[in-house]
Amino acid sequence: MGSNYIYKCTACNYKEQVSGGKDRGKLVSTETMTCPDCLRLVDTVTAIACDPELAARMKVDIAKQKGRCCHCGGLNLLPWKAQACPKCGGKMEKLEGGPVRMWD
Ligand SMILES: [Zn+2]
Ligand SMILES: [Zn+2]
Repeated sequence: MGSNYIYKCTACNYKEQVSGGKDRGKLVSTETMTCPDCLRLVDTVTAIACDPELAARMKVDIAKQKGRCCHCGGLNLLPWKAQACPKCGGKMEKLEGGPVRMWD
């Protein structure tokens, strides 16, 4: 099951709802990346689940998403390092309160 948290930049108050790292649901594995095009955090699909029936059904949609920014469609995603804010380089912190969304 994948889960998302809200991360907030302590410097510029930029907020994003992401898993905050590598995550895995029933259908896909995701990883939190930064998009240098729109300067946002994005959970991108890194792998499709091994269930062949499900994978076949999801293939077209997931192939479109894989390695792609879901905000702007950019393909230049970089791994999110040291919880740095993609907008200002400040430190992003996970807000208290547990997962805000279960996505799978
Ligand atoms: Zn910031
Ligand atoms: Zn983007």
